Amino acid sequence: MARGLTRGFLGLGSNLGDRRANLQSAVTGLEAAGVGVLGSSSVYETAPVGLVLDQPAFLNACVEVETELTAFELLDLCKQVEAALGRDFSAVRHGPRPIDIDILLFGSETLESDRLVVPHPALCERRFVLVPLLELEPAAALPDGSALSEALTALGDDDGVVLAGSSLIFRPCPRSSSP
Ligand code: ADP
Ligand code: MG
Repeated sequence: MARGLTRGFLGLGSNLGDRRANLQSAVTGLEAAGVGVLGSSSVYETAPVGLVLDQPAFLNACVEVETELTAFELLDLCKQVEAALGRDFSAVRHGPRPIDIDILLFGSETLESDRLVVPHPALCERRFVLVPLLELEPAAALPDGSALSEALTALGDDDGVVLAGSSLIFRPCPRSSSP
């Protein structure tokens, strides 16, 4: 039976090499594998948070995707794209990486397995994920309907996520038809 299309949101991060080029290459790699990339947030710069604080700042962005893949197939593809961009999977978790691709939301699916948790388990705690996600989709919500804008508000003020560049996707304005 033909599978339907699912829309989802991916979080992209890079803090090694040409960070913006890495984010851009992630988009290209996903598209090359047949995933539709419908939109991208602006690019934000974020000081490292989590287990490893002594590392370069990250560039982060969020993209909306549309795919026939299952969430698990999309995770495998994300890992393939990460590997192609030089990600060292033996490196310390939360450490420096040329690219990180996380599945934030996948339709209204809720999944909890060893390999994959959707919505992404840290989604509501990370300003560097919520800020680009809400720029791209202000009405973004968890599968239970709760607004992610409220999760961002609950995190309080913080200046750690700074606008650092334009969207990863250039969509020309529709040309007006000639008279
Ligand atoms: P992090 O993204 O938390 O910095 P990693 O990118 O190293 O860490 O991911 C570690 C593992 O998290 C991956 O191997 C993947 O199997 C798992 N994982 C669980 N849920 C997700 C998700 N929603 N998106 C991406 N990876 C996930
Ligand atoms: Mg990851």
